[in-house]
Amino acid sequence: MKIRPQKTEDGNMIINAEKRRILSGMRPTGKLHLGHYLGALKNWITLQNEYDCFFEIADLHALTENAEKKDVKSMSFELTLDYLSVGIDPKKATIFVQSEVREHSELHLLLSMITPVSWLERCPTYKDQVSQLNLGPNVTYGLLGYPVLMTTDIVLYKSDRVPIGKDQLPHLELSREIVRRFNFLFNKDVFPEPEALLTEIPLLSGLDGRKMSKSYNNFILLSEEEKDLWEKIRNMVTDPARIKKDDPGHPDICTVYSYHKIFSLNECDEIESDCKGGNIGCVACKKKLFSNIETIIAPFREKRKKLSLEPDFIEDILSEGRKKAAEIAGKTIAEVKEAIKIR
Ligand code: SF4
Repeated sequence: MKIRPQKTEDGNMIINAEKRRILSGMRPTGKLHLGHYLGALKNWITLQNEYDCFFEIADLHALTENAEKKDVKSMSFELTLDYLSVGIDPKKATIFVQSEVREHSELHLLLSMITPVSWLERCPTYKDQVSQLNLGPNVTYGLLGYPVLMTTDIVLYKSDRVPIGKDQLPHLELSREIVRRFNFLFNKDVFPEPEALLTEIPLLSGLDGRKMSKSYNNFILLSEEEKDLWEKIRNMVTDPARIKKDDPGHPDICTVYSYHKIFSLNECDEIESDCKGGNIGCVACKKKLFSNIETIIAPFREKRKKLSLEPDFIEDILSEGRKKAAEIAGKTIAEVKEAIKIR
């Protein structure tokens, strides 16, 4: 099945000029989970109807740490499957692989020429990663320059809105500083200053109550099989004070209940009072949660399975996405070179 992009008579791609443009992306580091869905994908599905959306497979970003240990190419395929299975629509949004649009690497280099190292060193994420990963003298420029590549992604498409949560505001501010510096140094408003499109993100903890993390293996995949989903929910930690079904419970300290507050909105009050009154057992309570999450992810899982059998269709989507992205990126790079006065 071919995706047919709209083209003008002279063969150029039609790029939606009326809608404001948004760039967002994820790193291809493994199958996506419910945290990714609530934190970004659900919002993207809405945004693709209102904005000219570019959703990137950020494979260069995935190389920032342990580049030699990753199979980024196959992970990029998996990430595309996840994007499509939840409802990102290639007829509405542009899906492309970052490394296939060479202008990302080119602009990253050029922006690195004007970005002071001190700005990058003060970035909270950089400091956290250096201490958490215990990198010492092995810190790479790739890790330090991550915000420069992130800025490149945004400004290459002249995106004026970036969908983020409040915790990412410092990163966006750094991008805005880089943009201001570039425009000032070369005395030309090449890039718009990107603004945050703040998104309320429900806080979803890991299944064990800790922060959701791949290293803790405490998440539910968007492609989770039904039996594995039940196993994961069945093993979730509940109120330790509840031994028998009729023991009064404390839903406020129960991870299952924190999930109900997100996935069982209409039943939440009833579950809370039944738990406090000892009128529901934890297994029955978990079965309700299982049923509500299964209702959400079953269609994703089925669509993903079908799409995985059509690699040529996925390639077509990425190829059309690359063409559309490269057309815009090429024009931006030409403006940048003219401003810098290089050929
Ligand atoms: S009944 Fe539900 S909310 Fe209450 S402790 Fe058990 S699992 Fe948690």
